[in-house]
Amino acid sequence: MALGEFELIYRYFSSHGRGDAVALGVGDDAALIDLRPGEQLVTSVDTLVEGRHFLESAFPEDIGFRAVATAASDLAAMGARPLGMTLALTLPEPEDLWLHTFSEGVARAARELSLPLVGGDTTRGPLTVTVQVLGGVVAGTALLRSGAVPGDQLCVSGTLGDAAAGLAVQTGRWSGSEDAADYLETRFLRPQPRLALGMALVDKATACIDVSDGLLADAQHLAAASGVAFEIDSTLLPRSPALQSLPDIDQQLRWALTGGDDYELLFTLPAGVSLPAGTSVIGCVRTGQGVTGDFEASETAGFQHF
Ligand code: ADP
Ligand code: MG
Repeated sequence: MALGEFELIYRYFSSHGRGDAVALGVGDDAALIDLRPGEQLVTSVDTLVEGRHFLESAFPEDIGFRAVATAASDLAAMGARPLGMTLALTLPEPEDLWLHTFSEGVARAARELSLPLVGGDTTRGPLTVTVQVLGGVVAGTALLRSGAVPGDQLCVSGTLGDAAAGLAVQTGRWSGSEDAADYLETRFLRPQPRLALGMALVDKATACIDVSDGLLADAQHLAAASGVAFEIDSTLLPRSPALQSLPDIDQQLRWALTGGDDYELLFTLPAGVSLPAGTSVIGCVRTGQGVTGDFEASETAGFQHF
């Protein structure tokens, strides 16, 4: 390596590690994180592989930001307070410009999401980015997938389908307004994990999951884990003005239902509990199993399982 391994780590990854909970960051054999008395450690890890999770042409800054943001979304879904993260980076070549812009994306996400970079690993090989996130939650209060009960309201944060539309913009398949294209692309490249909402839902929501695979897929996971059925009203799905600039309403609906990559929170609230700001009711919880809705009415060629 032109740039030595330790010089590389020092130059790009050693200065994004300050945070209230960080007792010891990059540079020793392991990091030390302070938990508050009575807290449980929440941890999750996600890997992005070039060619599978992002294109070879992706900007390094976007890769870095997105790797952190998508991993952090799992902390949001658990209602965890962000404490820090580690980064395992496998690189074919230690290229200065690439590392510089990649680390800027990581640093920006670290700052915006309060996830100091406390350690990691650096190896040579096909480009792979693994981010482990660490969070804290008062013992016994984490938001799980398994607590929804019949009668609950089914709710989602933000708007759905934007990231799928943003990917369409990137691959030249967008036919909505030009003004909307930038917004949608940003929604895909710079997901905003709902960490504050997740924490606010602790002791309120009965179950929660983040929408990474698509609303219907993740709703199925939530319903199955809770042993209940969900009924979704597609007319209630929150869609951004940008997505609504697309003339094809069936395509809007398809992206909102199955698009994925939005990193919003899907959660259940007991009847009568008022909704946090920026969230919408999209259906209800019933006895039974699976996810049903009024989808047949529209273009649902893709979803035979309904
Ligand atoms: P060890 O041999 O003990 O595993 P390493 O040589 O892998 O240690 O790493 C040295 C230090 O640099 C450790 O504190 C490790 O956490 C940190 N580190 C290595 N790679 C990264 C990275 N990509 N991002 C952040 N910290 C890193
Ligand atoms: Mg190591």
